[in-house]
Amino acid sequence: MYNSDLFQGDIKGIAGQEPGHERAAILGPQYLWSGGVVPYVFGSSITSNQRDIILQGMNDFHTKTCIRFVERTTQHHYIEIVSNDSGCWSYVGKMGGKQRVSLDVNGCIYVGTAIHELMHAVGFYHEHCRNDRDNYVTIHYENVMRGYACAFDKDTNWQYVGEGYNYASIMHYGAYSFSVNWGVLETIVPLDTKVVLHEPWEKYEMEHSDTNQINNLYAAECARRH
Ligand SMILES: [Zn+2]
Repeated sequence: MYNSDLFQGDIKGIAGQEPGHERAAILGPQYLWSGGVVPYVFGSSITSNQRDIILQGMNDFHTKTCIRFVERTTQHHYIEIVSNDSGCWSYVGKMGGKQRVSLDVNGCIYVGTAIHELMHAVGFYHEHCRNDRDNYVTIHYENVMRGYACAFDKDTNWQYVGEGYNYASIMHYGAYSFSVNWGVLETIVPLDTKVVLHEPWEKYEMEHSDTNQINNLYAAECARRH
């Protein structure tokens, strides 16, 4: 599902950041979508079935957050959602101009995966890469596939936007992410032994903590829309 050459496995690039520079976990206002509105187009490879699943994902934003995905007309900044590129990935935040969100027909066409990648595009990183994650999970690097350790890098400039760590976040990976032996050797182990981790594609909606963070991050932008 994820690529070793992408930051944290499925992040193609980060708005306003040159490679190797420090990054903000949640982006400055210039990298947010104006008015909380994200114009989109579907690539020609997207089938009507795939479209339905992705629209279900967008609907989760529409019912719980102030983010609005709208079909692009003439907007300069927008996302193009494609299913014929390799892997599930997105940029984080508004890059400027057209930016892709990839939901590969092989393994990415799930409501949960669509929500996960769209939440990257809105401006969020991974829950298990929050700066405070070591208080909640242990990363077992010895079980991580060679070349994928960077998928567990912590976000150095992570900013708090009103919610504590949530194991069930749509932005949290499962226990066997990038494992050398999937289903046997865990890579992410919760300190709370009662917790069972799930992959984004196993989820169907955002958690309250996810939607709260979106609404907090976009409060000023969305207020400008009204
Ligand atoms: Zn991701």
